[in-house]
Amino acid sequence: MVTLASTITIVETKANPKKRSLEDGNQPAPKWRIRLGDRAKGIRNPIREIMDTIAGKENPSKTLVSLAQGDPTCYPHLRPSVEMVSAVSHAVNSGQNNGYQPSQGNARCRTAVAAFFNTPGRPTLQAKDVFMTLGCSEALSHCIAALAAPGSNLLLPRPGFPLYQVLCDYHGVEVRYYDLLPDKGWQCNIGDIAKLVDDNTCGLLINNPSNPCGTVFPREHLAEVLNAAAELGLPVIADEVYAGMSFSRPFVSCAEASPRVPILSVCALSKRWLAPGWRIGWITVHDADGAFADAGVPETLLKLCQVSLGPSAPLQAAVPEILTSAPNGCPWHTRVLEALEASAKCCVQRCKAIPGLEVAAEPEGSMYLMVRLQPGVLDINTDDVRFAGKLLEEESVAVLPGQCFCAPGFFRVVFAAPVEVLDEAWDRIEVFCRRHAVK
Ligand SMILES: *Cc1c(COP(=O)(O)O)cnc(C)c1O
Repeated sequence: MVTLASTITIVETKANPKKRSLEDGNQPAPKWRIRLGDRAKGIRNPIREIMDTIAGKENPSKTLVSLAQGDPTCYPHLRPSVEMVSAVSHAVNSGQNNGYQPSQGNARCRTAVAAFFNTPGRPTLQAKDVFMTLGCSEALSHCIAALAAPGSNLLLPRPGFPLYQVLCDYHGVEVRYYDLLPDKGWQCNIGDIAKLVDDNTCGLLINNPSNPCGTVFPREHLAEVLNAAAELGLPVIADEVYAGMSFSRPFVSCAEASPRVPILSVCALSKRWLAPGWRIGWITVHDADGAFADAGVPETLLKLCQVSLGPSAPLQAAVPEILTSAPNGCPWHTRVLEALEASAKCCVQRCKAIPGLEVAAEPEGSMYLMVRLQPGVLDINTDDVRFAGKLLEEESVAVLPGQCFCAPGFFRVVFAAPVEVLDEAWDRIEVFCRRHAVK
């Protein structure tokens, strides 16, 4: 290790000594100037850190049942529609989609996204308001990067999707959490929002339907939250990747719930269209009175899109056919929602019958359920990391501890599995909880 200055170090990479002696006699090993970027080194994925402590520890005598992975395609009953797959296959086979696309995205594709997400009560959404991205993750990254003025902070939901924090750290944005209230159907603590805001607050992130809570906000609640944002002058980043994935309550978008607030809505083919591996997402800019335009937000989003040059051309070319062939309420979409609803119901019913566990709020959409560990009932008490670790070790059932989402004392269940698989998992969870009941 060579120290150049107190803060800079160069790691010496030694070449294979045998090889070197053949090539260049007795010359000293070269000192490669390999250093690491601070921002890259600083990336910390909270799920990985917590899961690495329990990963690979399943009971070898029982097959693993995973209710941990947020991938709707983990089980074969949930698949993209035949029309979606043939649209992609046609786009590849046509030979017309091999070239670079405009950074903001293919124009036909953006026109189709604008038509699909056009919102009553808002100015007509146009192709210029749509930015194509590599999944919803890159869409979120662009939105946060665009608003990340020096010294700024962003309000995030707690519990919430861990990527938000990772992206804020990466873009140098301070994180401030507002709480979602488990005993009020995981609705936002609106009082928190006003308390957290200062002159450097650059936005409010709203995730609806929710990962990890599985809730779908009623229109009135969403309107109240957006009113608070309007009073505080806060633009909103709306993570609506589960748009159209609700079964007990109609999904209402942020843009629909408030005509006044400037909203960057992000979505993707990953969840509602069951194709996370296709890596197609987008931002729709719902401006209000030109607030985003005046601040230069669309130009900045375009610059960010120029970094990766956007998602693959054949996939973008297939988007118009994908969106028109699988509208809300088509038979394929209805079957998907029915399967999710049956799975959610199974989880709620089984969970309610197990001592020590409590459903915080019944899921209404997305594909997640948060389960509360009741204090004093299990010998594990409310230690969610220990609960998830022991459950895996003894019963080979994987769930994510609430700490992955800043929600200690809970665990998250993914209910994208078919009912037969869920029943097997809950049988084992039940046996586990009875075995660990305080005597
Ligand atoms: C899955 C997920 C994403 C990321 O979606 P990709 O399109 O796969 O990048 C973003 N937000 C939430 C809440 C998610 O659950």
